[in-house]
Amino acid sequence: MSVESVNAELKPLLREGEKTVWINVAQQLKAPVGTVRSYTVNEKVDVAEGNCLVQGEIELTRTNRGILAEGNLQAQVKLTCSRCLDVFTCLIPLNIEEEFFPTTDVLTGTSLPSPDDPDSFTIDENNILDLTEAIRQYTLLAMPMKPLCREDCVGLCPPEKVDSNRSSHKHVLS
Ligand SMILES: [Zn+2]
Repeated sequence: MSVESVNAELKPLLREGEKTVWINVAQQLKAPVGTVRSYTVNEKVDVAEGNCLVQGEIELTRTNRGILAEGNLQAQVKLTCSRCLDVFTCLIPLNIEEEFFPTTDVLTGTSLPSPDDPDSFTIDENNILDLTEAIRQYTLLAMPMKPLCREDCVGLCPPEKVDSNRSSHKHVLS
């Protein structure tokens, strides 16, 4: 098993004008099974409404079927607190583990049969492995249903609807 760290290949991760995280895996598809490459991710990705900064490490391993992507990433998502309605930045850990299947044979350029599972992630005909959709799905799944800016957020104090977290307002607990 060979391990390469190819940070030099990191810059062209972003397609011009698009909020995507993609890696050209042509060389790795030609490499023996077990070949590992590591990438640093530090990109703004279009998730739900608005871009969020995604940072971390992605490790790609050549499998007998395609490329296994394993990553420990962190997404910075702007959420609205369900109690006080303040917008705050929430750090969401993303532990990604997905196998990507090539759609084209890297050596001959001929089309390959689609993977059995239609929901599988694929590598396009230009040998681009696009992590954007996986990052988006993992982020949406991990988002809290009722976001809180902090565990003990006291929220708005009815009926005057003043933000009780602010020191100028005395919040009386009943
Ligand atoms: Zn709050």
